[in-house]
Amino acid sequence: MSTLPTSADTVIIGAGIHGLSTAFHLAERRGSGAGIVIVDKTDSAAGASGIACGVVRNNYFQPAMRELMAHSVGVWETDPEAFHYHPVGYMQISHEGMRDDVGSIYEQQQAIGYESVFIEGAAESDAYMKAMFSDWRAQGITSVLHEKRGGYCHNKAGLAGLRAKAEALGVQIHAGVEVTELRRPGSAVDAVVTNQGTIECDHVVIGVGPWVARFWDMLDLPTTTKILGADGVVHERPTWIYWALQEGTLGVDPDTLLTDAGDRPPVIHVDTDAPLYDDAGELVTEGPWGIYYKPDDHFGGIQGGYVPYIVDKPAAEVAVDPYGPQSPDFVVGDDFYRTWTAALAHCHGRFEGKAHLIKREKTGGLGCFSPDSFPIFDTFAENCHVIADSNHGWKMIGVGKLVAAEVDGEPQALLRPFRYARYAEGELHPVSNSPYPWS
Ligand SMILES: Cc1cc2nc3c(=O)[nH]c(=O)nc-3n(C[C@H](O)[C@H](O)[C@H](O)COP(=O)(O)OP(=O)(O)OC[C@H]3O[C@@H](n4cnc5c(N)ncnc54)[C@H](O)[C@@H]3O)c2cc1C
Repeated sequence: MSTLPTSADTVIIGAGIHGLSTAFHLAERRGSGAGIVIVDKTDSAAGASGIACGVVRNNYFQPAMRELMAHSVGVWETDPEAFHYHPVGYMQISHEGMRDDVGSIYEQQQAIGYESVFIEGAAESDAYMKAMFSDWRAQGITSVLHEKRGGYCHNKAGLAGLRAKAEALGVQIHAGVEVTELRRPGSAVDAVVTNQGTIECDHVVIGVGPWVARFWDMLDLPTTTKILGADGVVHERPTWIYWALQEGTLGVDPDTLLTDAGDRPPVIHVDTDAPLYDDAGELVTEGPWGIYYKPDDHFGGIQGGYVPYIVDKPAAEVAVDPYGPQSPDFVVGDDFYRTWTAALAHCHGRFEGKAHLIKREKTGGLGCFSPDSFPIFDTFAENCHVIADSNHGWKMIGVGKLVAAEVDGEPQALLRPFRYARYAEGELHPVSNSPYPWS
């Protein structure tokens, strides 16, 4: 690794999906990565991007999210091989309480030309799923949204591919360099101070995933946020909170989940209100509940997750090291193993009696969420671009492309709905009936 420079045009903090994507796209649009420097306190893949399940989907109730995802899927599709992107599609399989929301997602996907199919009715949904998997048996389902685009990536391999593209254009990446201060003699940041030296710069991009609260403090931004509600009342919430994402892998051959036609299936997300029983026939939950899963060679089995839970600790405590000894370690435990495997068996006969094959490893992780659980993409202190994706973000590879354009002075309409001022102005995103904070 080369010596840390003392000056740069743009310093990007964090070598996760957003930092690397911004660097690559900035270098690409300029024809060279000269003057673009990434610093990471550990290395690429050390953060959320290195543990993400890697699902890429468009299924969002919020129009602004959907348009941003369609843009991002387009970026994934530019080089599936380098990004280790598997365009198998995505299915949202839902109970009646979600049918209208998902129906409106479908209609708006048609309006923006995002290819998908929407099946309605219990019998019709069951038949659609049984045509794909003859052992399909999920109960309480009354709609299926089948997105033909999207899919999933192998997280570490995909990041390595993106990193190689950035480095090939001359972007410098410095691992083991921790940012401790943003120097601000006036209103703008003129240097990034690290434990290895100071880099003077014209632009800063902050892509630090779940560590964002620390940088929020460095920028003197508020730890609580005032939100103008639709009722005209101003509510105040912590700016950052943490959710623990429960994910795991059933240790079977990934090809256990082939379709009847012998293909790898779309990523599957099931939300139902049917009661859930475990292998012993005991009630796990009355519902509603939701799971997602996919065959995954990288994780070595059927990988997926369950509804996350809120971490009951102040952001200042968790933000120090979300993946260190302070994190709820393990994020997953017996409750998750039991529920998730029961849910898999609820959906497919082939998983009955397989609960014991769950891998008892350290999986899942923490996500840092904004006051409304949607991203904050904004510029502070004149030249400091913050990419705080509220844990939506592996799939959002296209955000870096938009931020790169903004660094070069071109405001991007797709990013506008994610400005921090939306809270004070009451320009909030619509809220769905999904049990997940990111749908
Ligand atoms: C278990 C789990 C599963 C997920 N699954 C999905 C999914 O399927 N699909 C999806 O779209 N999203 C998913 N996500 C969300 C997604 O992983 C994140 O939104 C995204 O990876 C965040 O990327 P990032 O580049 O902002 O941050 P990160 O990948 O966290 O990278 C931040 C980097 O900043 C560095 N850093 C931090 N502080 C400093 C400092 N002071 N100085 C220098 N460097 C610093 C860190 O070392 C790290 O490498 C998941 C998240 C989790 C936790």
